[in-house]
Amino acid sequence: MHRDDLRRMLLVTLLSAAAGWLSGELLLCLWLGAVGYILWQQRRLERLLQWMRGRREEAKGLDQGVVGELLDHCELRQERYRKRKKKLSNMLKQFQKATRALPDATVVLDGDGAITWSNPRAERLLGVQWPRDGGRRIASIVRHPAVVRLLRQQDQAEAGEEMPSPVDPTRVLNLRLVPYGKGQRLLVARDVTEVVQAARVRSDFVANASHELRTPLTVLSGYLETLTEGELPPPERLLPLLQKMRQQCGRMRHMVEELLLLSRLEQCEAEPVREAVDVSLLLAEIQQQAMELGGDARHLFYLEADHRLGLTGCPSELHAAFANLVFNAVQYTPPGGTIRIRWYGDEQGAHLVVRDTGIGIPAHHLPRLTERFYRVDDSRAREDGSGGTGLGLAIVKHVLQRHGARLVIESEEGKGSTFRCDFPPESVVELDREETPARAEAD
Ligand code: ADP
Repeated sequence: MHRDDLRRMLLVTLLSAAAGWLSGELLLCLWLGAVGYILWQQRRLERLLQWMRGRREEAKGLDQGVVGELLDHCELRQERYRKRKKKLSNMLKQFQKATRALPDATVVLDGDGAITWSNPRAERLLGVQWPRDGGRRIASIVRHPAVVRLLRQQDQAEAGEEMPSPVDPTRVLNLRLVPYGKGQRLLVARDVTEVVQAARVRSDFVANASHELRTPLTVLSGYLETLTEGELPPPERLLPLLQKMRQQCGRMRHMVEELLLLSRLEQCEAEPVREAVDVSLLLAEIQQQAMELGGDARHLFYLEADHRLGLTGCPSELHAAFANLVFNAVQYTPPGGTIRIRWYGDEQGAHLVVRDTGIGIPAHHLPRLTERFYRVDDSRAREDGSGGTGLGLAIVKHVLQRHGARLVIESEEGKGSTFRCDFPPESVVELDREETPARAEAD
C-alpha cells in the first residue's frame, strides 16, 4: 500500500478510536471512520476519471497517494502519446506530400476492391477523387475490362495492363496492382502514352525504310534477271537498261545517305557545332548546284541575300537543310518556272525564304509534310523512281529544331509553294563585310 494512504488510514483509525473511546461507541466510530475513508477515496477516483475525460480542473489536490501516482502516470503517458501523435501526423503529412508529388496515380483498395485512399494524380488519370469516391468500388468508377482482369488475378502481373485513360482517351495508361498488408492492394496507373507512341514510330520507321528500299531493289533484280537469263542484248538496248539500273542504285544510295543523316541528327542530342556560317555564300553554292540539278528545265533563279547576316550553327547541317528546300523547289517546279531565294533579317531574327512557282501542295498534306517518308504523290516515286525519298523535309525540321528555328510552309496547289525558316535573334551574327546586299539572277 502507498505510504500516504497508509498514513491517512492510520490517522482515520486513530481519530475514530479516540472518538469511540470518548463516546463509548468504539465499533460504531471505527465503522463510520472506515466508511468515510472509503467514500473519500472513491471521490478521488471519480475526480481522476473526470480528469481523464478532459476536465483539467479536477486534478487539483489529487497529487498524493495512489490516486496521485496514477495521475502522474497518466500524465506521463498522455505526454508520450501527444509526442507520438505529433510525430505520426508529421510523417503522414510528409507521406501525403510525397504521394501528391508522384507522377503516377495511386489508389489504395481494400480486399473487395473498394477505394480507401487515392492521390490527386488519380483524379487526372483515372477520374478517382478522394475523399468523394471513398468506399466506392474501383471497377464501378473505372469501367474497363483491364481493371476487372487486374482485380481477378491472384499474382502481381509483371507487365500490368494497358488501357486508355477514362478522363482523356488519347492517353494510354499502364495499370498495376500491388498487394500489401492484410488484403490491401495498391493500384498504380502510369501514363505511358509517349512510350507507346515512340515504340509505334520506331516500328513504323523500320517498316517504311524496308519498304522504300525494297522498291528499287525489286526493279534492279528484275533487270539483272533479264540480263542473266538469255543472251546479252545489243549495246544500243543494253545501255538504257544499265542507265536505269544505275538510277535505281543512285536512288538507294541517296536514301541510305539521308537515313544515316536523319538518324545522326536524331541520335545526337548534343548541341550542333557552333560556328559563324556565311549564309549568303552557302546559298550561292546551293543555287549553283540547283541549277545543275535542274538541267534543261531552265528555271529562273533569283537570289537575294544580306551578305552581312550570318548564323551561328553547324555549316554542314545548315547546308543539308537549305539545299533540301532549294532542290525540292527545282524538283517540283515545271520547266521555265521561277525559284526565289531570300535571306534577310528583322527584329524577329533572320529568315530564309524559298519560293517557287511549281505544282504546289494541297492544303490537307501540309501538316504531315515533315513526317519521315511522307510524300504527296506516293505513286510517282514508286513507279518511275523520279520522286524523292520523303525524308528531305524531316531532315530540314530536325536541323532547324537543333538551331532553335522553325519551318513555316505555305502552298497553293498549281500555283507554287513557299518554305520559310525563321531563326531566332540569338542565333544571328553580323559578319565583318563591307559589300552591299547581293542580288543574283540566273537562268
Ligand atoms: P522528297 O524527298 O519526296 O522530296 P521531302 O520530305 O523533301 O521528300 O518532301 C515531302 C513531299 O513534299 C514531297 O514528296 C513533295 O510531294 C512535297 N514537296 C516538298 N517540297 C515541295 C515543293 N517545293 N513544291 C511542291 N511539293 C513539294
